[in-house]
Amino acid sequence: MAAATVPLPAERVPLEHAPWRIAAADALSAVDLPPFDRSAMDGFAVRADDVRPGEPLRLAGAVAAGEEARAPVEPGSAVAVTTGAALPSGSDAILRVEDAEAADGRVTPTASVRRGLHVRYRGEDVRAGDVLAPAGARLDVAKITALASAGVGEVAVHRRARVHVLATGNELLPVGAPPRPGRIHDSNRLTLRLLAEHVGADAIIHPVVPDDPDATRAAVEAGLAGDVLAVTGGVSVGEHDHVKAAFEACGVEEVFWRVRLKPGKPLWFGRRGGTVVFGLPGNPLSTLACFMLFVGPALRRMHGEADARPRFSRATLGAPAAPDDGRTTLLTAVIAPGPDGGLVATPTERQGSHLSGTLAGTQGFVVARYRGGAMPAGAAVDVLLLP
Ligand code: AMP
Ligand code: MG
Repeated sequence: MAAATVPLPAERVPLEHAPWRIAAADALSAVDLPPFDRSAMDGFAVRADDVRPGEPLRLAGAVAAGEEARAPVEPGSAVAVTTGAALPSGSDAILRVEDAEAADGRVTPTASVRRGLHVRYRGEDVRAGDVLAPAGARLDVAKITALASAGVGEVAVHRRARVHVLATGNELLPVGAPPRPGRIHDSNRLTLRLLAEHVGADAIIHPVVPDDPDATRAAVEAGLAGDVLAVTGGVSVGEHDHVKAAFEACGVEEVFWRVRLKPGKPLWFGRRGGTVVFGLPGNPLSTLACFMLFVGPALRRMHGEADARPRFSRATLGAPAAPDDGRTTLLTAVIAPGPDGGLVATPTERQGSHLSGTLAGTQGFVVARYRGGAMPAGAAVDVLLLP
């Protein structure tokens, strides 16, 4: 699957639109930081060698933050400054307002200062041209804050993936529709939209597709317009499963079908040109599991993440688990911090790919690996936390 998914092309976006996206090129500081020598305190810019407690200095002017420092500090004088103000020429230290008495155009120090005291020097933080976010890095709060401070207004990021979402099934009712005999409510389209948007993709939601070969083919063709097509339901071998035939009719080349995963075994993966295609089993928890392990990582890779593997957290098992050994199994679990602050994961008593109600009380899955054997309470396990 990794070979079929490549980072999408770069685009330049305003910094305001860049948070959480992945830098497509090194993002450099536009300025020195600080951009000029500045005061770290409210007080007086002075020549350190002139300052002797009890000996008054002449107050020669004032500079507030945001102003240009015009009046120089001559020997024997001081200039009032606010925090963040540019350091006037001639001065080399800041006498804090708490360490001086000012009256009648004079400033009398009550403490001595050393050269450089409370001065923030130009470029001591970063230099113009320093790399603040290397290509491949996520533009998180730390990096966005640094880039904004460093005068950067625009950055190159990988384009967002466009994910087309289809759900198949004659039984499906739209979200919130009144119940009808034999029908169930569609949840997969909403789940996939949430998960896709959570990893920064744009989701395009199509109408529910009936279990009919022609309708399925037409819907798949329409859904192949983006970077990813995710279809739920109809990917097994039942007589109402038309999705694989539709993929074939639309020229989607199969890369694999079926994985050793529970829930999620019938997962189908293929591609047509630059579009990758997932056929996901229809049960809500199967769709969720396949997204967490396959679709999400593919999207993250398209978005430029260097390491787009599924993100497992570690937890302590709260109760023994002995899952069927034939496949890697994701067990719905209550996952919460334990007494020592680490996560404790307790699988729910009932497990099943259709149990969306049980899902409501859980925070994610315990991963019981293929041939991993029985897991006693207290074992360290991998968990997949749901967003
Ligand atoms: P399928 O993969 O089409 O065989 O569907 C497997 C099970 O998932 C069936 O019980 C379907 O009714 C159910 N299902 C299929 N699609 C959805 C959906 N969009 N939302 C909720 N359940 C679904
Ligand atoms: Mg179906």
